[in-house]
Amino acid sequence: METILKLENIHKSYGKKEVLKGVSLDVKKGEIISVLGPSGCGKSTMLNIIAGILSINDGRVILNGKEVTTSKYMMPIEKRDLNMVFQDFALWPHMTARQNILYGLKLHKTDQASCNAKLEQMVSLLHLNGLMDQYPAELSGGQQQRVAIARALVMNPAIVLLDEPLCNLDVQLRIEMRTEMAQIFRSLHTTVFHVTHDPSEAFAMADRIVVMNNGMIDQIASPKECYEKPATAVVAGLLGAGNCIHGIQNNPGDITIADTRVKALSFTGANDVAMYFRPEDVRFSVSALPNSVPIEIIMPTFEGGQWRIKAKTSTGEFVTFLHPEKADEGTHGYLGFDPNRVYAYESITA
Ligand code: ADP
Ligand code: MG
Repeated sequence: METILKLENIHKSYGKKEVLKGVSLDVKKGEIISVLGPSGCGKSTMLNIIAGILSINDGRVILNGKEVTTSKYMMPIEKRDLNMVFQDFALWPHMTARQNILYGLKLHKTDQASCNAKLEQMVSLLHLNGLMDQYPAELSGGQQQRVAIARALVMNPAIVLLDEPLCNLDVQLRIEMRTEMAQIFRSLHTTVFHVTHDPSEAFAMADRIVVMNNGMIDQIASPKECYEKPATAVVAGLLGAGNCIHGIQNNPGDITIADTRVKALSFTGANDVAMYFRPEDVRFSVSALPNSVPIEIIMPTFEGGQWRIKAKTSTGEFVTFLHPEKADEGTHGYLGFDPNRVYAYESITA
């Protein structure tokens, strides 16, 4: 498939602080890419470099086959075949929704008939009926967001950039909008570069997820692959596997924790390993299970349909798991692992 955007070995520093440490990736035509990473890892920096708002120290950005940014050159933002949707929507407050959406087309001296046709398409696609004469202050957050997306899409850019596009919306609306946005982009075959710190937003939207950590890319893969085979401990942690216990690897995938041997199929070459797993991927029993380690219940918390239970391993590490019933504080039992749902990495001790 045709590559629309290419980042090659991008380095970016603010003063002495390097925030992008050699980032490379490709975005294909019609693809939705979500860059996922914790706050401060460099996502907005990367997006603003693509947009032409920030310079770089090394590497290059290629858009539609053209070099648009190098360490010596920056094509101006308005010459780039892209549009951006900002976190705070950034609609012009003195313009109606219609004027906001059509602003770019008017600037390009598009004739009235084409403007009307485009507007009609956006109104129907983004459910904006009856809102075109309203000013941004008269629109809800969700409506402003739709207008901002319409304003970007109406220009039919080679790529749309979205920086945490849903973080100013309340939870329910966020869940609805992420599915709706993905549907709209897919129906128009829009190429999208989206950044977020919210894994569920990346899962709902992306064809491929780029997981970033501390200015570097840890993994580029489909949401399913990132979830099932997280490439690093950071990816595992970000994607829900917040539990970590340490052990010794005897043979590939054969790990000893205290005196117990367990299997973890995603093995590493290291002897000292850290095993990560999700609260929902383990099973608790008071009697010994295959592939399990002994634990003691510290605290059960009721969560409606299930209990979230904090426990301690015999080696003194704390873990959390989900269980359909209550298990009382002080109860001794076993936590059983699914070898395919335990992610083992070399243990880094500082
Ligand atoms: P993200 O969008 O992933 O939260 P950013 O790209 O905004 O992260 O920031 C990456 C790092 O660079 C952060 O540590 C941030 O504090 C720092 N940073 C961002 N902008 C500037 C700036 N203009 N000057 C100095 N440091 C900055
Ligand atoms: Mg940001």
